[in-house]
Amino acid sequence: MSSTNGQYSQTRWSLNALLSSPEGLAVDQAIAELETATTAIEAMRPTLSPEMSGEDFVKVLKAVESFAEMAHRLGSYGPLWFSEDTQNQAALAFMGRMEQLLTEAQNRTLFFSLWWKGLANEAAERLLAYAGDMRYKLEQDRLFKDHTLAESEEKVINLKDINGISAMVTLYDMITSKFVFELEVEGEKKELTRDQLMTYVRDPSPELRAAAYQEQFRVYGREATVLAQIYTHRVRDWATENLNLRHFASPIAVRNLANDVPDAVVDTLLDVCAEQAPIFHRYFKLKAGWLGLPSAKLRRYDLYAPLTQESSKKIAYDDAVAMVLDSFNEFSPAVAKEAQRVFDDGHIDAEIRPGKRGGAFCAGILPGVSPWVLLNYTGEPRQVATLAHEMGHAIHALLAANHSILTFHSALPLAETASVFSEMLLTDRLLAEESDPNVRRDLLVDAIDDAYATILRQAYFVLFERDAHRLVAEGKTMDELNQHYLNQLNQQFGEAVEVSEDFQREWICIPHIYHTPFYCYAYSFGQLLALSLYQQYKEDGESFKPKLLKILAYGGAASPHHILSEAGIDMADPNFWRSGFKVIEGMIDELNE
Ligand SMILES: [Zn+2]
Repeated sequence: MSSTNGQYSQTRWSLNALLSSPEGLAVDQAIAELETATTAIEAMRPTLSPEMSGEDFVKVLKAVESFAEMAHRLGSYGPLWFSEDTQNQAALAFMGRMEQLLTEAQNRTLFFSLWWKGLANEAAERLLAYAGDMRYKLEQDRLFKDHTLAESEEKVINLKDINGISAMVTLYDMITSKFVFELEVEGEKKELTRDQLMTYVRDPSPELRAAAYQEQFRVYGREATVLAQIYTHRVRDWATENLNLRHFASPIAVRNLANDVPDAVVDTLLDVCAEQAPIFHRYFKLKAGWLGLPSAKLRRYDLYAPLTQESSKKIAYDDAVAMVLDSFNEFSPAVAKEAQRVFDDGHIDAEIRPGKRGGAFCAGILPGVSPWVLLNYTGEPRQVATLAHEMGHAIHALLAANHSILTFHSALPLAETASVFSEMLLTDRLLAEESDPNVRRDLLVDAIDDAYATILRQAYFVLFERDAHRLVAEGKTMDELNQHYLNQLNQQFGEAVEVSEDFQREWICIPHIYHTPFYCYAYSFGQLLALSLYQQYKEDGESFKPKLLKILAYGGAASPHHILSEAGIDMADPNFWRSGFKVIEGMIDELNE
């Protein structure tokens, strides 16, 4: 491993590449530029016609791109600033101001996309020839042709959403992020955030693991009726807008079209996940044996239990960065160089600070500008994997840098390809270097636990959502939703895991089903895709590399179907999804030996 000589330290990031300051001249200028772009688009309205010249069409597209760039700068600054410090009133106020300002600007330019969607096929085809890199984005817009309303109606929906359903979801966040959890650890009563509480579900002590979950459900349970009511409104609003007004065939079809993945493919993915659940059942049974639990059967509380009793060794941040960059370098020096840029540009915030948002994420905002990566690095070995994961996202964005701002973001189902692949590269490297059987075992257990949490768990969230949207429409109560959730957990775990009743209200603790309905299958999709790509890499070696780099370099400039079929992948084929599960089966076999 190359030494970095303490070159990397956990510092705050710099947002200067977005805006040099959130106040004063910098913001005024950016707002003025947004206004210029908005007025330019408005001024072109009379030129829009099915007969317009390709040259005029390109002019509109350029203005739309400039508008998007300013909207991204102004719209992303607030959330990033807020995640640095969630108690920051100025960040919150900035975010609110920008949301209002951007919605109004978007409404003024809405006519372009409505005109474009309404254009006859022949005229659209002619103009698409001039679209260059924006072609797929424009094609994708037209997929929504039959689900689009009149301009005045679209405007009202946008304006009412800010203080309507979006505000409702913000209230969910505000209520739940104020929760304080209490847990007695080694005789000491602690007050914890949810992130901190959830670290105890991986504690060696079975009592502590159970207590952590029970505390989560106790605290959420106190507000369960309010939180379930917010969910009911989310679901009803989804149905009113998307089924009644926009005529989508089903609630999930909205997400599928946005992802540009056919309904049948998503059904196949979810079916294969349910069908392959026994692979994890076998793992959970083995794990119960290795843990030597008194209950003989794994309790749901024990799902993420570590096999090693003593707390694992800590890895210094500097070493973690070196390990991740090394594993990239081994795959491709060019990829490692891209990753290096994120550090050189100071776009990573890995420091632990009070008030900072929990978890980790990567935000690629402008093509060619290093993405921003947030981490809460405390040194547990699994956080090295998190670093690899987020840096994978960063590489994905950087490899797609030569696309338009409107096409460089990869579609959701492909968004986890580089991140999961990077984790696999790191795990394999660590396995290759590690001779201690206990550490090797921990590495594999972590990888399989993560695969469970990303694939099966997320697929079952979506299976629940599919039913929940129907049950809410039928007027079912919270208790009935709880019962349904518990029944599905029992299906998911079969005979392998004992699920206690308190898990019935787990669904109200899942922010994604409130924020972005049916989002979660993108995780199952992404992880299974990345696993089978990794399998191909192991089989084909060097010749595989250009294939992966090509997938990543597309960003979002072509449909998932196009990008994957070029790589020889048929996402409609259940056997493709099964091949991802085979990789997990292989890891379980290895562990069992
Ligand atoms: Zn990710």
